[in-house]
Amino acid sequence: MSAEVYRLVDSHVHLDEIGDVERAIHEAKQVGVVALIAVGQDYGSNLKVLELSEKHKAFVYPALGLHPWSLGEMSSAQIDLNLRLVEENIERTVAIGEIGLDYHKKVKAAAGKERQKEVFKAMLELARREDKPVSVHSRYAWKDCFDLVKEAGVRKAVFHWYTGFSGVLREIIAEGYFISATPAGEYHDEHKRAIKETPLENLLLETDSPVTYGRETRYESRPADIIRALEAVAQLKGLGRGVVAEQTTGNAVRLFGLAAQVKTT
Ligand SMILES: [Zn+2]
Repeated sequence: MSAEVYRLVDSHVHLDEIGDVERAIHEAKQVGVVALIAVGQDYGSNLKVLELSEKHKAFVYPALGLHPWSLGEMSSAQIDLNLRLVEENIERTVAIGEIGLDYHKKVKAAAGKERQKEVFKAMLELARREDKPVSVHSRYAWKDCFDLVKEAGVRKAVFHWYTGFSGVLREIIAEGYFISATPAGEYHDEHKRAIKETPLENLLLETDSPVTYGRETRYESRPADIIRALEAVAQLKGLGRGVVAEQTTGNAVRLFGLAAQVKTT
């Protein structure tokens, strides 16, 4: 009586923040996950992501970055050190992320807009030079994020867990960039709208684990919860889960260049 298992890619996970990684990976594989993109957010997190990807080769693919939330506590020297770490390990990564801007007032109080932009631009310049995709955090900064990515000449980008304006979303789609759908697609109005407005060709799935989801019932997510994102997209678009799985997995494989490792058929 087992439900059909689809091949899925979790395109944005904070694997270094999950306590029992082995169990999380085992459970993810059981629901059909064939690859996950582990994003880093600061120096220590980037090192852990590299370590985890070594240990779980051909399943955990590393993305190194610098999250705007981490900036407040960092000196310029620490920011430079992190940038060098990303540069030195660029061959091993499938993307640069998590990077971006966050204009929530608490985040801006810790690291102002200009400082955030300066760091984001440095990361985007590296992505352009190395032709790497970027995994972008854009909360309340959707337009600036899109403009900077485009102006930097970065060809491949995913605006993860997108909840922003429809106008910016149209620009993202026109540029051939992606957004990713999380399990919040079950209940969050802005995210639901964004998923509905995005063609399947521009959509990825992700969990952003171990983030907490839910309205009435709250739960700490794991990559296995990717099936909730799959189900949400299928519901919102009135499509079968198989169709959504095949297209979004194909999108992720092409975007992150996983084709050599991940069989999609
Ligand atoms: Zn994230």
